This record gives sequence, C-alpha cells and structure tokens, in this order.
Amino acid sequence: MHNIVNNLILINKELSAINTNTKIIAVSKTFPIKHIQPAIDHGHLHFGENKVQEASEKWTEIKEKNKSIKLHLIGKLQTNKVKFCLPLFDFIHSLDNIKLAEKIANEQIKKNYKPKLFIQVNIGDEDQKSGVSLSEFENFYKKTEDFELDIIGLMCIPPFVEDTEYYFKKMVEIQKKTNLKELSMGMSNDYLSAANNSATYVRIGSKIFGERS
Ligand SMILES: *Cc1c(COP(=O)(O)O)cnc(C)c1O
Repeated sequence: MHNIVNNLILINKELSAINTNTKIIAVSKTFPIKHIQPAIDHGHLHFGENKVQEASEKWTEIKEKNKSIKLHLIGKLQTNKVKFCLPLFDFIHSLDNIKLAEKIANEQIKKNYKPKLFIQVNIGDEDQKSGVSLSEFENFYKKTEDFELDIIGLMCIPPFVEDTEYYFKKMVEIQKKTNLKELSMGMSNDYLSAANNSATYVRIGSKIFGERS
C-alpha cells in the first residue's frame, strides 16, 4: 500500500483510540496534486492549504469532480483575497479581525455561499503570530455576532515549544466562554496531545505527506 495512505490509516487508528470526534485535515501545502492523489483516491475528505492562490490552482478542478472533498484554509487571509476564497474553501481557520469578518460577510452574500469559520486565537500572546489576543478575545467574539457568519470553533498555533499541552488546555478554557463546538489544534508533532484535549480537527502535514522542501 502507498506510504501516504498507510500514514493516514495509522494516524486515524491512533486518534480513534483517543477521541472519536477528532478528524484529520491532511495539510497538503507545497505538494503537487500528483503527490496528494493517493490520499484523495483513498477517500480522504479534509485537506488543508495555507495559500489561496496555490489552493485555487491545485484544487478547483478536483473539487468540481469530487464534491465531497472539503478544503480548509489554515493560513493567514488578507481581506483583498477573500473574493478568491469563496466558494473554494469550505472552512477558514484564520478569522482574527473585524475587517475580515465584515469582508467575509459581504462576500458570502455575493457568492451565496457560507464557509464555516474558526476564530484564530493567539494562544501564546506572541507578537509575531496572527490571531486574536487573549485580552481581546471576549470582545472580539461578541463583535462577530454583528455579522451572519457561520463560526463553528476556535483554532490555534501554539508557541514553538517542546510541550504544547498547556496551550491546548488553555484553548479549552477559552472555548468554555463560547458556545462553539469545534477546536482546530494539533499538528504532526502534537496531534495526540491535542486529541487528548478535545481537538475536533487536527492539521497534519509532514507526518502524512513527508517533509516539505
Ligand atoms: C503547515 C501547517 C500545519 C501542518 O504542519 P505539520 O507540522 O507539517 O503537520 C498545520 N497548521 C498550520 C496552520 C500550518 O501552516
């Protein structure tokens, strides 16, 4: 069996032993479709990309042929790219400012298509990272109610440290202040810990597709 498919099956097995609610987003950024194809043929449905242009080139045709594939934008989204995002992306994980919320709200009316959204939380309060800061979170969450957005959960990219569990637990605490069901957290190095801490989507790239060059 193909390596990539093997990896997916193994990770799925590990995850389902911990948390049956955790789904794998196979992060295919930088890889050409030729490399990703075995995962598609295997029937995997959730894929993640971090650049709008790259995703559009790679996935537009495939998604037309295979309507059950769900594409997740996991990278930063500039407001001027929103129009290229819909209906390409079914999920957007990087909502972190009100201008973007407004832009998505307008675009989804134009396109008659509502993507599912995650609010990205800057869980380590790092200057260089995107996401809503912890001190602004509650205010931001409240403001998003002014728009008819389909916000389903919270997403984080924790600081680059050995043990990220502390941050996953912190995300669960923040989630409790909302009525959002989903948590997008955990990558190749820490997806098991994330699943242990109620992640509903883990975003896994290199552990499935190999190292990116
Ligand atoms: C690239 C990326 C991932 C996947 O990273 P791996 O370590 O290869 O699993 C997950 N989330 C985001 C936001 C990414 O940019």
